[in-house]
Amino acid sequence: MTNAPRPDSSRPPRFVVIGAGMSGILAAIELSRAGYRDFAIYEKADRLGGTWRENTYPGIACDVPSHLYSYSFEPNPEWSHRFAPGPEIQAYFEGVARRHGVESRIRFGEEVTRCDFENGRWSLETASGTRDVADFVIAATGVLHHPSIPDLPGLSDFAGASFHSARWDHAVPLEGRRIGVVGTGSSAIQIVSALVERVGRLVLFQRTPQWIAPVENAGYSEEERAEFRRRPEAMREIRDQVAHAFIEGFANALVDVDSPALQAIHDMCVANLENSVRDPGLREKLRPAYRAACKRLIMSEDFYDAIQRPNAQLVTDAIERVEATGVRTRDGQLHELDVLVLATGFQVDRFVRPMQVIGRGGQALDDVWKNGPFAHLAISVPDFPNFFMLNGPNSPVGNFSLIDVAELQLGYVMQLVERVRSGARREIAPSHAAMRRFDAERRQAAKTTIWGTGCRSWYLDEEGLPTAWPWTFDRFREEMSEPDLEDYELR
Ligand code: NAP
Repeated sequence: MTNAPRPDSSRPPRFVVIGAGMSGILAAIELSRAGYRDFAIYEKADRLGGTWRENTYPGIACDVPSHLYSYSFEPNPEWSHRFAPGPEIQAYFEGVARRHGVESRIRFGEEVTRCDFENGRWSLETASGTRDVADFVIAATGVLHHPSIPDLPGLSDFAGASFHSARWDHAVPLEGRRIGVVGTGSSAIQIVSALVERVGRLVLFQRTPQWIAPVENAGYSEEERAEFRRRPEAMREIRDQVAHAFIEGFANALVDVDSPALQAIHDMCVANLENSVRDPGLREKLRPAYRAACKRLIMSEDFYDAIQRPNAQLVTDAIERVEATGVRTRDGQLHELDVLVLATGFQVDRFVRPMQVIGRGGQALDDVWKNGPFAHLAISVPDFPNFFMLNGPNSPVGNFSLIDVAELQLGYVMQLVERVRSGARREIAPSHAAMRRFDAERRQAAKTTIWGTGCRSWYLDEEGLPTAWPWTFDRFREEMSEPDLEDYELR
């Protein structure tokens, strides 16, 4: 790598944003608003949108209400449904980026592979050999972007089409064919519900049943949309209402295993199962043996209907192996298939990786994170100055609007940047003491969250401890409102 020139305090700072998904677009807009002109966004793909660009499976939608899953400053009167489908969300991000002049800042097809902190600045390198230097890096690299491919014996022998839910092959015909889906997470449930009417036969391979919360996904009428256009406050009212209900009735309950709200959620899911699934045998196969919301709660209005269709089959015997013509389960049965969909989730401990990030004294982030990723207040890591993550490790996850999370985090990051810019120091990073304190408190609090009550999920680290923000959303909002500079080292 070239040695980065030393920072010059008379010069406006340069920023690099990594990733042009929801958080990267947000970062670009906020940097412009704050008057910073010198920045670029690096995006490995040829199109913006992150998760919504990559996940195009049938039935994809956001299970956070659309008027909440929008930037606070860009309400969208045109949402077609309470829970908008994926392509509409992708179009929303493209529209916002266009309106705010973000696209011209994006360097598409440029994957940042290395960031080195040298002489007080970050030197960056991309896979194609492009180099850049920045005073601040905002890593908006997403949470769930590296598919987890299960180690199923014989998978490569399958003669039909097989792909991960986040790599949907739209060239493969589905009409009238025999489709297998592995997994029962949010992706699988949406896929099953969307596909069952189109395909000849649908086989769902369930390793663990899921609690399903009932939702209604009504469309917005033309009159309602006209009202939103005429009176944007109406959208704000919905947003505030939904946010309040979500935070009070759900988010805050998740971190208190004994809360009545959590019990109410559990009872609602039990009632949904009891009232929706007629066959007692099928009902018991679909009944989880853990508490609702221990795994990420699934929201669906039509999954139970879908799985009771005559052409649908729920298979609970473990997968023994994949063969050329289908999937053989441990009971010896061969389930013949034309297409096998792996809705098997993501490698959830990647965050900014596989990018190599080298901080002060040549420390590699990979080494610092060898026992699992962490970040002070989910934003930054000691000895990696001026390097900030959005939706990074220990952020709130679990049926939240990650847009809301990113907006709050970015507000905090911009205050840290402003501290550096307006002072005599050029580098800011959390102290080791602050990091240790945060991590110890986080680990302690994690023990009383619903996520640790006895289920396997992507929320848990290798020791089985929940990694997500373990306190209330109100506390998150409060922590993000203003940095405590005692927690930081300025140099
Ligand atoms: P996921 O929740 O991690 O689910 C993966 C599924 O695959 C689980 O049912 C898992 O079984 C199963 N699985 C994994 N390896 C397997 C194996 N070797 N054999 C059999 N089954 C296996 O993944 P996801 O559904 O893609 O969802 C991930 C996250 O993405 C969600 O939690 C959510 O945060 C986000 N998401 C959001 C939306 C939305 O509407 N907002 C939609 C889709 C996804 P076990 O349960 O037994 O581990």
